[in-house]
Amino acid sequence: MAKHKIVVCDHIHQKGLDLLAKEADIELLNASSVPKSELLPLLQDADIAITRSSTDVDSAFLEATKKIRAVVRAGVGVDNVDIDGCSRKGIVVMNVPTANTIAAVELTLAHMLSACRNFPGANDQLKNARLWKREDWYGTELKDKKLGVIGFGNIGSRVALRAKAFEMNVIAYDPYIKPSKATDLGIAYTSNFDDILACDMITIHTPKNKETINLIGKEEIAKMKDGVILINCARGNLYNEEALYEGLQSGKIRWAGLDVFNKEPATNNPLLDLPNVYVTPHIGANTLESQEKIAIQAAEAAIEAARGSNYPNALNLPIKESELPLFVKPYLELVQKMGFFATQANKAPIHSFKIIAEGEISQYIDSLSTFGLVGALNASLGDKVNYVNAPYVATERGIELKSESKSAQGGYKNKITVKLTTEKDIMTLSGTVFDENVQRIVEINGFGLDIEPKGRMILFKNTDVPGVIGMIGTTLAKHQINIADFRLGRNNHNQALAVIIVDDDVKKEVIEELRAIKACLGIENVVL
Ligand code: NAD
Repeated sequence: MAKHKIVVCDHIHQKGLDLLAKEADIELLNASSVPKSELLPLLQDADIAITRSSTDVDSAFLEATKKIRAVVRAGVGVDNVDIDGCSRKGIVVMNVPTANTIAAVELTLAHMLSACRNFPGANDQLKNARLWKREDWYGTELKDKKLGVIGFGNIGSRVALRAKAFEMNVIAYDPYIKPSKATDLGIAYTSNFDDILACDMITIHTPKNKETINLIGKEEIAKMKDGVILINCARGNLYNEEALYEGLQSGKIRWAGLDVFNKEPATNNPLLDLPNVYVTPHIGANTLESQEKIAIQAAEAAIEAARGSNYPNALNLPIKESELPLFVKPYLELVQKMGFFATQANKAPIHSFKIIAEGEISQYIDSLSTFGLVGALNASLGDKVNYVNAPYVATERGIELKSESKSAQGGYKNKITVKLTTEKDIMTLSGTVFDENVQRIVEINGFGLDIEPKGRMILFKNTDVPGVIGMIGTTLAKHQINIADFRLGRNNHNQALAVIIVDDDVKKEVIEELRAIKACLGIENVVL
């Protein structure tokens, strides 16, 4: 029996090596101590490589590997992996994203406790200044305080459970989960962000994406309780750093505990100058246990990939572009944007997701479904969802996946439709590609339109009466928001849908002001 060759390029925990060594159909080459200048020839006949940050998966690496099928990054970050290059060569790139969950959860608790008891300050004073001033260190207790948890996934949900053990009153905010995910654990759920802003302590555990960057800014901090404590062990810039600085300086925010920063390494970050900020240098994943779990999960993934049975946590779609007809790629791009559009415009737990493809493009219905689904899940899960795991992630979340192929109808050579059914509503969105790559959304919920899927958009549905466009224009002008384009569709029920493309960010207060226009039947904000 020919063995599958797995090359371990960087140091991993012994437990991972032991797993690889005991499989009869695997030939293990542990090259972690080989100088990097001598590594590439060893990869020539490798089937799988396991790497960490010391091995760049770059053009030289890809050139050297002749038959490699997958690269497993033992860890999360893939900054030094040329994912596009791998995709072009049909190589799957995988990482190990959840091995560090507990490590990040416990660091969050450490920050919460440190902030309450000024622990690092007391430690510093005694050790460095040799002062015994107990009166300087009166803290507060977690018990009976209200904790707001933003993002109730792997980490957020576990932080919430542990906070409950401290007898905190925990409330979760995550528009992409079923509320029962929290309430079944005895944790309150809210869909109103203001309930979170009213907490004594707030911790955030969302991915970093367009929607979550600056999720907490100046306005949100202004609404918070005086003396609030903020924790971030997720990703930098979910709290706007300037607003955080101002809030901490004025005393509005009592303490902030931060493991992550907008730019890392953060050795020059102005936040470090403030006495009421406690920091750690992005060590959320740094426990011995998580290193062991990473090695075991990387080894397991490598074995499965070597056998071709599974590619867990694959980050790319290993389709050789040369094998894809030229006209397909823009449709894949378009359907992914449409999925992302639909979930932003209909923000609620998803029940089902359907793609309908008409015309020649319908031969690629499976790929269209996958790309559409990646777009749809991306709004809530960010980088965690990819072209390989999207269907599994959807099924795990109880989302029904459907697809339909048809011949060309209604004047378009090719057309794709996304139908998203959520707890709140049903949304349909159709699109097509003109010429070679002119992507357009041509229908939203039965309203015929012609929209380039790009930029910041406001969707405004209204009773079709005179004067509405003027009122929208006046409201936006009042807030210094420039309209770049205005597209209008009407139906037979005396209703209109305007898609207003704007140059500037649209704050919540603007949306609320537009919602207050009498003829308004619904309003959503979408950023592509
Ligand atoms: P997860 O995908 O399991 O959970 C993220 C949750 O955020 C999901 O339930 C999602 O629905 C929710 N969410 C998405 N957008 C939201 C929004 N706008 N408002 C509220 N909720 C929203 O991810 P996880 O494994 O729990 O990781 C959470 C974060 O922690 C990620 O950013 C991850 O990169 C980070 N992390 C940091 C470290 C570290 O070293 N500090 C270690 C591990 C993970």
